[in-house]
Amino acid sequence: MRILLVDDSATMRRIQKTQISNLGISDILEATDGEEALIVLKENMPIDIILLDWNMPVMDGMTFLKKVRSVAAYNDVKVVMCTSESEKSRVIEAMKEGVNNYIIKPFTPDSLKEKLGL
Ligand SMILES: [Mg+2]
Repeated sequence: MRILLVDDSATMRRIQKTQISNLGISDILEATDGEEALIVLKENMPIDIILLDWNMPVMDGMTFLKKVRSVAAYNDVKVVMCTSESEKSRVIEAMKEGVNNYIIKPFTPDSLKEKLGL
């Protein structure tokens, strides 16, 4: 099981990494924006799950999602959007673009586990 964390906040990535590590998963990759994530994804397939932030500089989560879903080789990569309460209404838009699930920040280790399907 390999997971890619995409978030411009180092603090958020650290929290996610700790929670996921505690679930017994150690193969965790990180990227600070969509553009970097595309490179990390390309170089580290197979990746099972991407935990994706919305708001990031350079390339945001939605743009990244659309690019990922346009590549057949990434069809099996599960994408979970990590949203704030205020972005909740945009989840429908993300679902249309092929996001598999979403989780609202801040989240507990239990809800993260459930949303990632672990
Ligand atoms: Mg952000």
